[in-house]
Amino acid sequence: MKDLIVIGGGPGGYVAAIRASQLGMDVALVEKDAPGGTCLNRGCIPTKAYFQNAAVLRTLSGLSEFNARAENIAFDLPGARERKDWIVAKLVSGIRDLLKGYRVEVIAGEASLVAPGRLLVGGEEIVARRLLIATGSEPAVPPIPGVDLPGVVTSDALLETDTLPERLVIIGGGVIGIEFACIFNAFGSRITVLEAMPDILGAMDGEIVRRMGVYLKKQGIEVHTGTVVERIEREGEDLRVTARGKKGPVERPADLVLLAAGRKPFTRGLGLEQLGIACDDRGFIKVDGNYETGVPGIYAVGDVIGGPMLAHVASEEGIVAVERMAGLDHRVNYDAVPSCVFSFPEIAAVGLTQEEAQARGIDFRVGKFPFAANGKALTMGEGDGMVKVIADADDTVIGVHILGPHAGDLIQEAGVVVRNRLKVADVIGTIHPHPTLGEAFLEAVMDVQGRSLHSLPKARR
Ligand SMILES: Cc1cc2nc3c(=O)[nH]c(=O)nc-3n(C[C@H](O)[C@H](O)[C@H](O)COP(=O)(O)OP(=O)(O)OC[C@H]3O[C@@H](n4cnc5c(N)ncnc54)[C@H](O)[C@@H]3O)c2cc1C
Repeated sequence: MKDLIVIGGGPGGYVAAIRASQLGMDVALVEKDAPGGTCLNRGCIPTKAYFQNAAVLRTLSGLSEFNARAENIAFDLPGARERKDWIVAKLVSGIRDLLKGYRVEVIAGEASLVAPGRLLVGGEEIVARRLLIATGSEPAVPPIPGVDLPGVVTSDALLETDTLPERLVIIGGGVIGIEFACIFNAFGSRITVLEAMPDILGAMDGEIVRRMGVYLKKQGIEVHTGTVVERIEREGEDLRVTARGKKGPVERPADLVLLAAGRKPFTRGLGLEQLGIACDDRGFIKVDGNYETGVPGIYAVGDVIGGPMLAHVASEEGIVAVERMAGLDHRVNYDAVPSCVFSFPEIAAVGLTQEEAQARGIDFRVGKFPFAANGKALTMGEGDGMVKVIADADDTVIGVHILGPHAGDLIQEAGVVVRNRLKVADVIGTIHPHPTLGEAFLEAVMDVQGRSLHSLPKARR
C-alpha cells in the first residue's frame, strides 16, 4: 500500500509528490494527460513563450530608439508555436525525470474515487493511506448565446491556433485576457477587450490599473469596461460580438473570439458526491487548515480548492499539505502571495492594495518612484510605469505594486519584505546595486518617508 496517491500532475500535484518523497513517503501520482498540468501545457509556460515572441517583435519595431534598423520584419505564428511546444516538451520531460529520480510511481490514466484510500484508474483499483486531489481547473464558458460557434475559443485553443486572427475580440479583461491582448496585439492582431466589471484586472491596485489602461490604449488595444456581452453571431466569414456598454451598444466584428471570463474547478468524473466530499457553491472543494476535505484521509490543493488560482500557490499548498501530513508545522502565507501580469508593461504585486488598506482602516503612507527616473530602465528603452509602496504607521511595508519592466522578477524582493513584515528602514539599509531596476523599488520605499534621493522633494513635485 502506498503512503500517498496524488491525483493530478500539475504544479500542485507533482510538487506535492516530490516533497512527499523527500519526506520519506512511498508515493504514486495519477495523471490523465501530460505532467505539468495546465501551467506547463496550456497556461503559464506556453503564454510566456508567446510573451517573449511578442517582446522581441516590440523591440524590433522600436529599433529606431536604439539607432538600429531591421528590414522586412516578419512573424511566423506556426514557428512560434513550434518553439513553444519545444519548450513545453523539454519541461514535461524534465518533470518526468524528476518524478523518476524521486521514485514517484507515475500512473497514466483518469482516477476516480471509490472510497477513502481507494481509487480506480483504468478499471484497476489502487490503494493508499492518503489521497491528495490536485485536479486543477478548466476555462469557464460564460452563458452567452453563440459561445459554441466555430471561431469562439478558450485559451487552450488559442494557444494551438496557427492562423493569426486579423481581429481578435477578448471577452474578459482579467489577467489571462490582458496577457493575450498584449501578446496578440504585438503579433499584429487588432484587439478589443470587453470587460463586464467597472475595471480590468479585478483585484489589483486601482492606480496601477488606471495607468495600465493608458498604456493599453497607447499600444492600440481597445478596452471597454462595464460592458456586458449579449451575443456572438456568425455573419458570413465574420463573427460579430454585440455588447451593452456604459454609453450604449458596442458591436465588433471578429475573426476569432477568446473567452477569458474565468476558470472553474475540474472535478468531473472524480466521484466527489458519492463520497460526500463537500464543495462550495462554485464547485471548489472545501478543505480545512491541513488541506483535508470533510472526508478523513482525502486532501485537496491548488486550483481545485479556489483561492488565488496561481501555479506558485498550488505548489506551496501541495508542499504544506504533505508537510503537515508528516507532522511538520508549516502554513501557506496567503497575505504575501505575489501575482504577476505578463503584459506590456508587466505588472506584479504583493500584499495589500491601497483600496484594501483603506477598507481595513489602516493608517498608511504611500511611496512611489517612476521608471522614467531609473537609469537602467531608460537604457532599456522601458521608462513606462512605476513602483508603488504602501507602509503602515509603524513603517512596516504592507503592499508593493510594480508596473514596469521585469515587474515579475522585481517583485521577489518585495515578497521577502512583505512576508517577513520588514520595515522601510530594513530596505533602505540594504545596498542595491547600480544601475538596476531594483533601485526603483528602493527609491519608492525611501519615498514613503519622503527621502527618495532621485525625486524632487514632495512639496516641489
Ligand atoms: C492561459 C493561462 C495562463 C496562466 N498563466 C499563469 C502564470 O503566468 N502564472 C501563474 O502562477 N499561473 C498561471 N496560470 C494559472 C496556473 O496554470 C494554475 O493556477 C495552475 O496550473 C494550477 O495548478 P494545479 O496543480 O492546481 O492544477 P492544474 O495545473 O490544472 O493540473 C491539474 C492536473 O490534473 C489532471 N487531472 C484532472 N483530473 C484528473 C483525474 N481524474 N485523474 C488524473 N488526472 C487528472 C489534469 O490533466 C492536470 O494535468 C495560467 C493559467 C492559464 C489558463
